Amino acid sequence: MTPRVIEEITPRYGVKLALRLASRAEEDRATGCWLWTGRLDQHGYGKIKVNNIHTGTHRAAWLAYRGDIPSGLVVDHLCRNRACLNPWHLELVTVRVNTRRGALKGVVGKWPRGSFCIRGHAYSEHSVERQHGGYTRRICLACERIRTRAHKARIRAAG
Ligand SMILES: [Zn+2]
Ligand SMILES: [Zn+2]
Repeated sequence: MTPRVIEEITPRYGVKLALRLASRAEEDRATGCWLWTGRLDQHGYGKIKVNNIHTGTHRAAWLAYRGDIPSGLVVDHLCRNRACLNPWHLELVTVRVNTRRGALKGVVGKWPRGSFCIRGHAYSEHSVERQHGGYTRRICLACERIRTRAHKARIRAAG
């Protein structure tokens, strides 16, 4: 039977899901964040499909490593890094707390705004500045590595 809600994947799929998540995440040594190398949504949250259900990787990580998500609670990032799925950077909060924190994002966070690339890599560790068309751009080297690897995998698959 196909589960209707993501909660139904636990605990039966816990170990399998945990391995799947871990195999596609990379630990950022600067922050301890586990950063998703797969698809991100437009808000920067990692996305994964579990039993045909699309869900956030942080929710999936909570279910796989920590346990249930009681109704009325949501999984929130202590590290403020949306692409992170380190289960110990996550906590359960009420929807209200989560909304309030969202409004303060970038103000109260441990890391100042603009410290991370879209995938959540700490710029202090991974970035270089490059001249491009007359202006300077900050490039994330960790993201570049992920892109290069994905590109090579595509070539291998095609060949
Ligand atoms: Zn984190
Ligand atoms: Zn990056």
